[in-house]
Amino acid sequence: MLVKEASQRLARRTGVAAALLGSGARRGILGGSRTPAVFAADATRARADGGRRASTTAAGEPQPQAPRSSNYALAFALGSMVSGGLAYYFASSDTTESNKTNTDFNTQYGSPEDFKKAVKELQEAFKHDEDALSTDEDELERHGLANFDMHPGTIPSVVVFPTSTEDVVKIVKIAVKYRMPVVPFSGGTSLEGHFLPPSIGGISIDMHRMDKIVEIHEADSDVVCQPGVKWMDLNDYLKKKGIPLFFPLDPGPGATLGGMLSTGCSGTNAVRYGTARAEWFLNATVVLPSGEVIKTRRRARKSSAGFDTTKLFIGAEGTLGIVTEVTIRLAPVLQTNVAVVQFPDVQKATEAVIELVNSGIGIQCVELVDDMFMKGTNMYGMSPRKWPEKDSLYLKFQGPTPRALQENAEVAKKITSKYGATGFTFARNEKEAEDLWTDRKNAVYSGLAMVPGSKAWGTDVCVPVSRLPELVYETKKDLAAHGIMSTIIGHVGDGNFHALLLYRTPEESAIAYEAGKRIVKRAIDLDGTCTGEHGVGLGKKGWLYEELGEGTIELMRTIKKAIDPLNLFNPGKLYPDQPSKK
Ligand SMILES: Cc1cc2nc3c(=O)[nH]c(=O)nc-3n(C[C@H](O)[C@H](O)[C@H](O)COP(=O)(O)OP(=O)(O)OC[C@H]3O[C@@H](n4cnc5c(N)ncnc54)[C@H](O)[C@@H]3O)c2cc1C
Repeated sequence: MLVKEASQRLARRTGVAAALLGSGARRGILGGSRTPAVFAADATRARADGGRRASTTAAGEPQPQAPRSSNYALAFALGSMVSGGLAYYFASSDTTESNKTNTDFNTQYGSPEDFKKAVKELQEAFKHDEDALSTDEDELERHGLANFDMHPGTIPSVVVFPTSTEDVVKIVKIAVKYRMPVVPFSGGTSLEGHFLPPSIGGISIDMHRMDKIVEIHEADSDVVCQPGVKWMDLNDYLKKKGIPLFFPLDPGPGATLGGMLSTGCSGTNAVRYGTARAEWFLNATVVLPSGEVIKTRRRARKSSAGFDTTKLFIGAEGTLGIVTEVTIRLAPVLQTNVAVVQFPDVQKATEAVIELVNSGIGIQCVELVDDMFMKGTNMYGMSPRKWPEKDSLYLKFQGPTPRALQENAEVAKKITSKYGATGFTFARNEKEAEDLWTDRKNAVYSGLAMVPGSKAWGTDVCVPVSRLPELVYETKKDLAAHGIMSTIIGHVGDGNFHALLLYRTPEESAIAYEAGKRIVKRAIDLDGTCTGEHGVGLGKKGWLYEELGEGTIELMRTIKKAIDPLNLFNPGKLYPDQPSKK
C-alpha cells in the first residue's frame, strides 16, 4: 500500500479551509443557514491581495475574506469563473430555502437533541483517533460554505474524517440511528452547492484522509485508489515513478476521484477521452444508506454481468451511496503540442472542428474562444504575443512522436484553411506550447481584464456540436442587446461552452444573471443540457423537468427512494421538486 503524505491534510486545512466570514451569525453544533453570501470572479483582487477572497453579499457589497494561499486564490478565481451563476436564482426559485429537501421525500429528521446524541456517539466511536472528528467552528464553516459558488451556505453539525470503509459504515449507522443527514465532501471544488449540508445540519463526511493509492497494475493500465486521491496528485505520482500512464479526466485543480465520479465530471481532455461516464471507473466500493457495503464490479476491463451499477453512482452526487474505493483505468502518456488559429466567425470555426474531429487525427483538446477572449488576452498583457482579435481555436495535438505531432498539425492546417482560417501558429518547442496553452488557461484573468473592477457569472451548457454555432451566435446577439460584456470559451469538440458574463454593479449583475438563464433555456431548446460537466447540485435542479421529462425524473426518484428511504444522503440535491399539480 502506498501511503501519501500527511501534509496534504494540513494543506487542505490551511488552504481550502478559508471560510466566508460575512455578516451571518456564527452557528453552533446544530448547524443552520447563514445569510446568503454570493460571490463571483474577481481575479484581479484575488491576486492583488495575496489570496484574500473577494466576495459579494447578495446585495453586491464586497466582503473581506480570510487569507488563503496564492494557489488557492488562483483556483478560486478560476472556479468563480466557471461557477454556476444561475445557481442562486434556481435554488431560491425552487424552494424558500435553497437546500430544503423535496417534500415528497422523507423530511422527518432527528430532533436537535437527537443530533447532539449522534455527535456524542460519533465522538465515542472515534475516541481512539483524535483527528477523526471536528466541531471546530472554522472546520464547520469550511464544510458548509461553498468556496466556488454563490449558494447560501449552511454549516454541518459535525465533520468526520474517516480513513477506511469501516469508518464510513460506522458513521452511516449512527446517522441512521438518529435520522441525521450525511453529506460527502471531498475536494470541495464542485460549483453548484453540491456539498452544502441541509439547513437543519447533518454530518459532513470529509474523505480527504482516504487518499491512498492502494494498488497500481501497470500491465493492466489500472489503479485502485481511495476516493480522496486527487487526479493531479495521482498523475504526478505516476510520472515521478516513471510509469508512462495517466488519468485523463481533468476537472478543477484539487478535485478528487470520489467527487469526480459523483459529479460525472470531464474537462478539456473530454474530446479525446470522454467523460466520467465512459468506462474510466471500472468499479467502485460503496457504502449504502443501509450501512451495507457493495462492490459494483471486479477489475476486468469489460463485463456484461447485469446492470452497470457503477454508473448508478456516477453523477449521483452522493445521494445514493458513499464511494470508499475505486478502480480506474489509465491511458498511455503521449507527447503533445499546441496550435492556435483564427477564423472569420464561430460558425466557420465549429464547422472546421467537426471535420477535424471526424478526420481521426490525434487531437486531445479543441477549445473555442471568441474575439472578446482574444481582445482580453491582449489587454491582460501576459501573452508573449499580440493576437488578432478574432474567433479562434486552441488545438492540443497528441501523438507517439514529434513527427506524428507535426503530421497532425499539417492535416489540421489544411482542414482549417478550408474554413477560412488564418494565422495557424504551431508551437516550435515545449516552451512555446506552454505559452500558448497558458493564454487559454488565463481565461479568467484575461476576461476580467476587459472591464477593470469587474466580477463575472459563469455558465456551463452543452449542445450537440453542430448546434453550437447557433447557440453562440444567439447568445452573443443577446449579450450585445443587453450591453453585457463577456468572453466565451468552449470545449467545442464536445459542444460544451462557458460564458464569462462581466458586471460591476448589482444592476449589471442582475442583467447578466437573467442572460445566464436565457443561455440555459436556449441550450435545452437546442437539444442540449443545462450542465455539460459541473453537475446539478442545488443550482440546476430547477431545469431537470424541462430537460429530462417527467418519466425520467420519476425513475430517478424511485431509485433514490428505494436505496435511501429515509432521504439521509445529501438531501435536497439533484432531484427537482415535483411540479405542482394545480
Ligand atoms: C477552477 C475550477 C475548474 C473546474 N473545471 C471543471 C471542468 O473543466 N470540468 C468539470 O467537470 N468540472 C470542473 N470543475 C468542477 C469540479 O472540479 C468538479 O465538479 C469535480 O468533479 C468535483 O470534485 P471534488 O472532489 O471537488 O468533489 P466535491 O466538491 O467535494 O463533491 C462533489 C459532489 O460529490 C459528492 N461526493 C464527494 N465525494 C464523494 C464520495 N466519496 N462518495 C459519494 N459522493 C461524494 C459530494 O457530496 C458532492 O455532491 C471546476 C472547478 C473549479 C474550481
